[in-house]
Amino acid sequence: MNTSDTVNLLSELISCASVTPADAGAQSILKSRLSALGAKIVDLPSGEVNNFWARIGTASPLLVFYGHTDVVPAGPLEDWQSDPFTATVSDGIITGRGAADMKGGVAAFISAIERFLRRKPDFSGSLGFIITSGEECGSEHGTPVVVKYMRDNDIIPDYCIVAEPTSSEVFGDVIKNGRRGSLSGKLVAHGIQGHVAWPDRCVNPILRMAEAIAQLSTERWDEGNEFFPPTSFQITRLVSNSGADNIVPGRLEADWNFRYSSASTSQSLIDRVEQILSSSGLQYDVSWHEGAIPVLAQSERLIGTLSDIILKHTGIRPRLATDGGVTDTRHIAPLCPEVLEFGLLSGTIHKPNEQVSVASLECLTRIFEDLIENLLAE
Ligand SMILES: [Zn+2]
Repeated sequence: MNTSDTVNLLSELISCASVTPADAGAQSILKSRLSALGAKIVDLPSGEVNNFWARIGTASPLLVFYGHTDVVPAGPLEDWQSDPFTATVSDGIITGRGAADMKGGVAAFISAIERFLRRKPDFSGSLGFIITSGEECGSEHGTPVVVKYMRDNDIIPDYCIVAEPTSSEVFGDVIKNGRRGSLSGKLVAHGIQGHVAWPDRCVNPILRMAEAIAQLSTERWDEGNEFFPPTSFQITRLVSNSGADNIVPGRLEADWNFRYSSASTSQSLIDRVEQILSSSGLQYDVSWHEGAIPVLAQSERLIGTLSDIILKHTGIRPRLATDGGVTDTRHIAPLCPEVLEFGLLSGTIHKPNEQVSVASLECLTRIFEDLIENLLAE
């Protein structure tokens, strides 16, 4: 077996200076590799972002790999020991911008599929690919565009692997099987302004809001569950100022944010907040922004299979985690709840001298190849 195909592909990808949302040729490399495997490719560019959907085969089950080809800027070049856009391999370490986040993961799953198809050209099921250059800029022109195309065309994956760098201390130690939801609210409360000496002619929104805050801050939103801590609520801004100590203000503004578990839904939280606000007698307008829904993969088969394969190749039984920042998993989960994130070590991502070991890259390739075989070759 050629053990350097993943390293070679990663080196090619690093040499494309695809600082978000630019692509700089990275996706052309992937498209020609996938076309050679018989993939049907659908280009889905949007704004400045390049995206494509690709699929090998049409049968079920459909296993999808997600990758972003964009990277964050290199930062000051003097902090780098080598050119960030030239892969440097030394002592078993590959250095370059995007090596871990996440061109290494992309190179690993492309190589894994090439190796698998050489052995099993007549596999059962199909393989799909969601590729975007709009992840690091949080662009709505990225993965949401591909997901919309899939939904419009009734393409519903059975499983999705997001090859983001999830490993924390040693390669293989963490699978992300979910992420908390984020829900923000913006309130404008309306009182009646007036002289402080005639309180019966005024409605003070600060006093009304104080009652509501007392309830909001002690409310037990849920108990969490096996994978998530209980939902948390924080007020992030509270402003009311009449401008003088003899005037009751007529207006108050407040912002808040929930980080919520899969034991709640955004609607259940909205309903309960509005109930509390109404019972305090506040007149108000509130606008809500859903930053991310909570994601929790529950397929015992996918989690069990991936976990066993990681153990086999690394000697480590990975733990399941739902912490960390947002990824494009939030866009994929509504279409495919069975989405897991697994990949390389995250210790150097977004830093100068971003790097991965050749050994972990090779191991990730073998893990992905084994996973494909387990899910699709039976
Ligand atoms: Zn990433």
